[in-house]
Amino acid sequence: MRHSNQAERAPELPHKRLQTSLGYLSSRVTDPVRKLWFIKKTLERYGTHSELVRRLPVVRSIVFHYVALESFGSLAWRSEPGVVSFPRAPLFLLFHMRHVLLVVTVAALALSTYWLLGAARTGADWAAARLIPLPNISAPVSVDFHPNRSSNPPTSVWLVTQNTEEELWSNGLRVDTQFAIDTHRRRYLHFPKDGSAPTERSGPPVGIVYHASQSDMAPFSREFSTDILETTHALLGWLQRREIYHYMIDRFGRVYRIVDDDDVAVHAGTSIWEDEESYYLNLNDSFIGVAFESRWDTGKDLITPAQVQAAMNLTDVLRLRYSISDINCVPHGLVSVNATKRLIGYHADWAQGFPFNALGLSDKYALPPASMTAFGFGYDEDLVGRLGGELWPGVERAETLLRERAESEGSDVQRLRSRLGERYDEMNGQWRTFAHRRSNQKLRALPEVKVNPVTSPVEERVNQTLPSSQR
Ligand SMILES: [Zn+2]
Repeated sequence: MRHSNQAERAPELPHKRLQTSLGYLSSRVTDPVRKLWFIKKTLERYGTHSELVRRLPVVRSIVFHYVALESFGSLAWRSEPGVVSFPRAPLFLLFHMRHVLLVVTVAALALSTYWLLGAARTGADWAAARLIPLPNISAPVSVDFHPNRSSNPPTSVWLVTQNTEEELWSNGLRVDTQFAIDTHRRRYLHFPKDGSAPTERSGPPVGIVYHASQSDMAPFSREFSTDILETTHALLGWLQRREIYHYMIDRFGRVYRIVDDDDVAVHAGTSIWEDEESYYLNLNDSFIGVAFESRWDTGKDLITPAQVQAAMNLTDVLRLRYSISDINCVPHGLVSVNATKRLIGYHADWAQGFPFNALGLSDKYALPPASMTAFGFGYDEDLVGRLGGELWPGVERAETLLRERAESEGSDVQRLRSRLGERYDEMNGQWRTFAHRRSNQKLRALPEVKVNPVTSPVEERVNQTLPSSQR
């Protein structure tokens, strides 16, 4: 790298980064007068930048290169051809800004890794977003669209026919199985309400957790048909690779199986629910996850009538096949908790506006959540804000129940809550021990074969639909 003599003799040298740029660029100027003009102009511009800029490594690289290039540019544009030879500008810039590029790349990698790991750990919905950025989501239907279910649920359903791509059920449900994968078999800890010791269970799912995919979506109109299809396809691939949800219902009401019914999918994260006999913690292992391709938001209904119809048929099939009781068909927003902060509504998808009536299910918003009544969880202003200023009625009922119970015990609500919280810690500890032992056993077992959904043999698909007695 050549330096001009003037610069080296100067009482105060400009920063090394600027010297590099000056040396390189001035060597491209053949005319000595213009060369001097370039150096003088650059040093003048350099002098206007504060000491702070000179101290910040990444910033000074950008600023100094810019300063030199700016003078070089104005000289080059004014000079006749041949006096100034242009450096290969893009390469020059890339090389000299390699540190900046490195920092940006590392930061981007770190951020995306953190984001993906977070998704795998604690349920899925928000992480499915930003797959394909598309403008403006339009609401396909109005808030009051979904009417009550007009027909009684069927008393039996059967698998009419199936091939490597699809199942047809007798109530009209079609399940696209092209994306279906196996993960690992369902095994969970079941907590009886009678106070007896928790027991391990496997076998069929005990309930359904409904989700909104919270993924990006194209406007729901004819001219965006291709975008809608491509977005769904990208989402399905994304969910499959991360084993998220058992089923996904696209906006045309098509139902896709992602994880086999007998296996565990990532979907509910840290969560609590109860039925008449049992408490359930962390429902990934005991409940089936069904997602609407939608962006749930308060006061807006972004699912289509076709999705509601498909969800009704899917719910009927799952409930009949696995004897799932109505009480255990519940939206994610009502079961999700933040265990560290003891708060409900960590994920809030469908904490309002779920079409229970249209699906023929009872209204779970009326129920006081077990997270509050049994384990003393509460809520904060953040959740109230996220739900547009109002929580579902069950929350207030739970508050009342806690108050009444504290009174009848001659205690106060705060003390009652912390006692219930200790109970949760104890149960959650048992659950963790169980989960730890289970994953150790899994490691010791033979490696599980992952079925490639496209090339899997027909037998694998047949196995997916065998009755529970064969599992
Ligand atoms: Zn969810």
